[in-house]
Amino acid sequence: MNFFIKTFGCIQNTADSERIKTFYWNEGFIETDDWKKSDLVIINTCIIRESAENRVYGLINEIDKWNKTLRPSGTSLDRAASKKIKIIVTGCLSGLAHKDKTGKKLSQLKRDFPAVSEFLPIEKISFEIEPLRGKSETALIPISFGCSNFCSYCIVPFAKGPEISRKIEAILNDIDKAIKDDFKQVMLIGQNVNSYGNDFTEATLVSMGKKRFKSLFPKLLEEVAKKDLEKISFVSSNPWDFSDELIETIAKNSNIDRLLHLPFQAGDDDVLKNMNRGYTSKEYLELVEKIRSKIPDVRFSTDIIIGFPGEDEKAFENTVELCKKAKFEIAYINKYSPRKGTVSAKLYKDEIPMKEKKRRWIILNDLINKK
Ligand code: SF4
Repeated sequence: MNFFIKTFGCIQNTADSERIKTFYWNEGFIETDDWKKSDLVIINTCIIRESAENRVYGLINEIDKWNKTLRPSGTSLDRAASKKIKIIVTGCLSGLAHKDKTGKKLSQLKRDFPAVSEFLPIEKISFEIEPLRGKSETALIPISFGCSNFCSYCIVPFAKGPEISRKIEAILNDIDKAIKDDFKQVMLIGQNVNSYGNDFTEATLVSMGKKRFKSLFPKLLEEVAKKDLEKISFVSSNPWDFSDELIETIAKNSNIDRLLHLPFQAGDDDVLKNMNRGYTSKEYLELVEKIRSKIPDVRFSTDIIIGFPGEDEKAFENTVELCKKAKFEIAYINKYSPRKGTVSAKLYKDEIPMKEKKRRWIILNDLINKK
């Protein structure tokens, strides 16, 4: 029996797919790189943008069409050409449906896509399965799952649920195994990686509508840095959780990557507030300066959303100004599009024309990525 896995979306999904592969290998399946030659297709989905979701539906429909054009079993001389492919859908699309307590979303999906045998919640694939890693130089190590931040534009907290951190011993054990397998580089991953352990600790401060916790991430990172590793990186950090202790930990361990990914999303305070990001542009820039003063060889990459509702010309100029001051090495720039089910889609009108979003995208891309 062969299986094919298609992974959409972020690095977290890539890591989840490595564990899914092990699960099916253990069930006796063999991986193939052509879905037409498989008995089972697993689609690990991303729904962060409508285009990603549509690609998922496109693949399901393509397989369904392929299945329907087959002759009934036994009439073909070519067994491989007459078998039907089973489809399992997991990741954010399944997560969102399973987390809807009314059950309506799951029923709707089942009605819309009868070709899918199962909408599998990713939590059913245990964190403790040893992942089947690809040829990459870097071992991906998930340290937490889900997110409790509720940025207003983001579907992740609804699809993956609140942040759940793995036990530190389990993470260090995974890293030891990766080292045994000759990995010299690891990447710690979580939707909000530097809030690791917030679910184990008590909130110490409430500010700007958000709770601040004493994150256990610096402690974890310190332990990982003691291992025989050449490079340790981590994604994705939230400025809100980037503590002084974390800066110190990075500064004193030269095997922690100096390229830090620190998404800021917008440089205008009203827009940031409507995004529910929990910091101002001034606080973000102060953080960047503080990190630079302690880690002189640090470089930054970032994520930006342009065309968020309320981003007028002045607000966009504030974003441009922040980019000039922060001097990012790379920026991943996304044009805002509302996701059904998110707070921003409910509260704000997507008022900025696509033509204008494209113009702003080009300005920022030229400024940061084309230097
Ligand atoms: S930090 Fe914000 S953008 Fe990132 S996954 Fe959590 S809610 Fe989404």
